[in-house]
This record gives sequence, structure tokens and C-alpha cells, in this order.
Amino acid sequence: MALKTGREYQQSIEKLALEAHVMGRTETQLGDHGLVQPSRAAVAVTYDGAHAEDAATRALFRVHSPLCKEEVNRFTHLHRSTDDLVKKVTMQRYCGHTTGCCFQRCVGMDAANAVYSTTFDCDAACGTDYHARFNAYWTMIQKDDLVVDGAMTDPKGDRGKRPKDQKDPDLFLRVVDRKPEGVVVCGAKLHQTGMLNAHEVLVMPTMGMREGEADWAICFAVPTNTPGIRYIYGRQTSDTRKLETPSLDMGNPRYGGQEVMTVFDHVFVPHERIFLNGELPYSGRLVERFAAYHRQSYGGCKVGVGDVLIGATALIARMNGVAQASHIKDKLVEMIHLNETLFACGIACSAMGHATAAGNFEIDMLLANVCKLNVTRFPYELARLATDIAGGLLGTMPSAHDLEDPVTGPYIKKYLAAAEGADPVDRIKVLRLIENLVAGSGAVAYLIESMHGAGPPMAQRIMIGRQGGLEEKMARVRTLLKIP
Ligand SMILES: Cc1cc2nc3c(=O)[nH]c(=O)nc-3n(C[C@H](O)[C@H](O)[C@H](O)COP(=O)(O)OP(=O)(O)OC[C@H]3O[C@@H](n4cnc5c(N)ncnc54)[C@H](O)[C@@H]3O)c2cc1C
Ligand code: SF4
Repeated sequence: MALKTGREYQQSIEKLALEAHVMGRTETQLGDHGLVQPSRAAVAVTYDGAHAEDAATRALFRVHSPLCKEEVNRFTHLHRSTDDLVKKVTMQRYCGHTTGCCFQRCVGMDAANAVYSTTFDCDAACGTDYHARFNAYWTMIQKDDLVVDGAMTDPKGDRGKRPKDQKDPDLFLRVVDRKPEGVVVCGAKLHQTGMLNAHEVLVMPTMGMREGEADWAICFAVPTNTPGIRYIYGRQTSDTRKLETPSLDMGNPRYGGQEVMTVFDHVFVPHERIFLNGELPYSGRLVERFAAYHRQSYGGCKVGVGDVLIGATALIARMNGVAQASHIKDKLVEMIHLNETLFACGIACSAMGHATAAGNFEIDMLLANVCKLNVTRFPYELARLATDIAGGLLGTMPSAHDLEDPVTGPYIKKYLAAAEGADPVDRIKVLRLIENLVAGSGAVAYLIESMHGAGPPMAQRIMIGRQGGLEEKMARVRTLLKIP
């Protein structure tokens, strides 16, 4: 049953009959909801890639899995080589420039690779049997070609306090009851990318837990339609434009992202779905590994979206009649340079990857953190340059309704004409796409997530500080200068 098409995916997710709170209403027909539909269409691209007409694209998405012994979609793969890691990033770039947005399926893939190697290490040290459980679970995911939400981020309450010291202990998701058949958990995961487009949710601790925090060191997976889980849809900038007709003002009329506040109100988790349960040192290891895989991911997806922004900026420069100006050419080169630097980091941390004790491949941690730290900066610079080149109209254009109005429409077309041959409506389309990415709903993933997703910049600086090898570098200087 592996290798669903996008259409088969949409049908399979509809069958889960998920319910969510969306802007004050309880919605059950999510696939038809204007705010949700573009995000499901974006996930569908990750399925259709495996059925693309050209063989090179299909080869990016299809890979043989030794786990389930079938060809699977790479979004469910446990990487077996550096070539796999490089192909992962290349596939993400493809999805990014096809959708121009977050296509939501990477968090589960990154979580799975981290849980796979961490359960192996935990079993070896603690005599647990999490790895076999996880293998059985993930074989099912691969065979059914499912989307898995990777749920790490807790609300965290007072950032200055440990989980056990919070006034409300549920501010970090935790075990509240232990039964013979499993555990009961309470808490929430914020910002969940594509949660309502996922078949399963894989929950991980948000940080390394310490003595007295065993109840918070919990990792497990449940289906997204498990009783007790409640979904509250996240707002994105200008999101209600997705509900408007005509769709011109949406900017990206086909695709979009999705983030969801997810509450676990006494959710039962059976033993066979638990992959960590109080083994404190492995909570921190899991967080570090997941974060590094997701920091690698941004070296693909954000670059793909960057391709779209660069393309739109070059197009608007041509439409505005400034494409030949030397400073415009130079700014476009700068945009390409920044974007390809991010890709270079994504490829570098992949190519320098290594096998884990469990046998799957992990990226080079230092380079993955360098990749993500650059992602916290470069998309903002790309957005600044795009805004510069696009002109002020980016923030002041009349609406699509006024364009359709018989009185105002002709004025808009007359006064938004620019270079000869550039249709004013096409010019509006391109400007709206740029607006979407630098200040609209697309900016949630392209900018805000570039800052905070997979951890804020300080988290990468800490890892870079730890892994930068300062002692080794000083030793080299001592050797060079013959300093004892
Ligand atoms: C669009 C988007 C999508 C996301 N998708 C997912 C997802 O799919 N799954 C998931 O699990 N998470 C997801 N995240 C969450 C993301 O990982 C977090 O936003 C990130 O880890 C930062 O956490 P926070 O938002 O709570 O900010 P905070 O942790 O509050 O950070 C805010 C600032 O406070 C600083 N700070 C925080 N704590 C301390 C401290 N103790 N001491 C000193 N400084 C501190 C930080 O360095 C930062 O500068 C997503 C986020 C976004 C924006
Ligand atoms: S932000 Fe990028 S890496 Fe994360 S889920 Fe979206 S597309 Fe994938």
C-alpha cells in the first residue's frame, strides 16, 4: 500500500474525520475549509512527487526501505547513507519551489530518524525494548505511507523555571497516570506544523529532563483522531484572504502552511506506542538529534521557497522596467548568493554525515547548526532585497474586488501599467506573491519559522559553541608555535 498519490492521501486524511476549532467555530469538514485546503494541497505535493513524470524527480522521492522491505516515499525513510541525506535536502528544495510554502511533512521524518537512533542507544544502556516497538510502529507508517506530525514544543510557561517547578505542571506535557496497559498524558504542544493534515502524532520531550522530571521524559505516538486531543487552529498573517473570492489577493492561491495548538487532555497511550518513559539522559539526546535533523531540513525547504521569492523579484523587476539597472542585477545576485549559501550548508551537513550505532545516518551536527543559524538571518535579507526591488506598491495595492469593479477596475489597470508588454493584472499577481512571502501568510514559515523553528538562534549558538572544537583549535596553534 506504499506510495500513495496526492489524491489518495487527501482521501485517507478525510477518513480520520478530524475536528478542529477554527476562528471560534468547531469545524468537521476540514478538507473543504478555505483556511485548511491550501495546506492539504501542499502536503499532497510530497505524495505526487513520487509519481512525477520525470524519472529524476521520482528518484528523489522513492527509496527502498530495509525496514519494511518495500519502496517507500522518502518522507518516511530512515536515512541509510550520506547520499540519502543529500537527496532528502534536494527533495525538500523541490517541494519548496513547487509550493512556495511549508509542505509540512518533514517534522515527522526528522523525529523518526531521531527516535530510531535514540531508542537504540537507550535500549543498549537501560535494557528497555523501545527500539523494537518503534521499528514495528514505523514499519506501519512506511507501508501505509502516512504523514506524522513531529510534536516537540511545549508551552514552557515561565522560561526561567524547570518543568517540575512551574506553577502549572501541565505547561510541559507529562504523564499524569500510569496504568497496567499504558500511560495517561496531559499537556499541550504549540505551533504544530501540519497537525491537522497528519495521520499520526509523534510526541517528544521539549528539552533534556533532569532528576525529579521523569514524568516529563516521555516520547510516544498516537493517531491524530485519538480521544482527548483537541486542535485549535493557528492564525497566520492575512489568513482570511484565503477565504476571499476572487483569489488574486491571496498571493499564493494554491498552497499554504498550517500550525495548530494541540491540547492533550488525559490522552491514553498504550505501552506499544511508548518509546521513552523516564530515561532522563535520552530525553536530551532525542531533542538534540531531532533539532539537528530539522536544522538540516531548512537548508532545503527554505531554499526552495527562496527560489520562488527570487524568481518573483526578478519578474517584477522586468515588469517594472528596471531589470537592466546594475544595482538591481547586483541585488538579485546577492539574493541568489544568500540562498545558495543556505543550500550549500544543507548539502554540506548531509555529505559530512555519519552512521549512528542504530545504523541510520545522522547529519554533521556542527554544520547543521551553522545551516540553521544562517536560516535565522538570510531569508530576512532576501525579503529586504525583494521589498526594495518590488517597490512600495507591495504594501498599498487596491483589492481584487476593486480590480473587478467597472468604475475602479479601468483606473487600476491604467495606473498600474508599467513596462511595455507587462500585463497590469500579472504584475499584481507577482506583487501579491512577494507580499505573501515577506509580510503575508507565507511569511509565517519563510520568516518567523526561519527564526524560531527547530529552536531560536541562541539554541544554535550553544550547539556551535559546544561543537566548534575550540580546545582542538588552540592545541593546533600551540603545536604550530611550539608552545608547550
Ligand atoms: C511557524 C512555526 C512552526 C513550528 N512548527 C513546529 C512543529 O511542527 N513542531 C514543534 O514541536 N515545534 C514547532 N515550532 C516551535 C519552535 O520550535 C519554537 O517556536 C522554538 O523552539 C522557540 O520556542 P518558543 O516559541 O517557545 O520561544 P521561546 O523559547 O520563548 O524563545 C523566545 C526567546 O527567549 C529566549 N529564551 C527562551 N528560554 C530562555 C531561557 N531559559 N533563558 C534565556 N533565554 C531564553 C530564546 O533564546 C528566544 O530568544 C514551530 C514554530 C514556528 C514559529
Ligand atoms: S518548515 Fe520546512 S522543514 Fe519544516 S515542515 Fe515546513 S517545509 Fe518541512
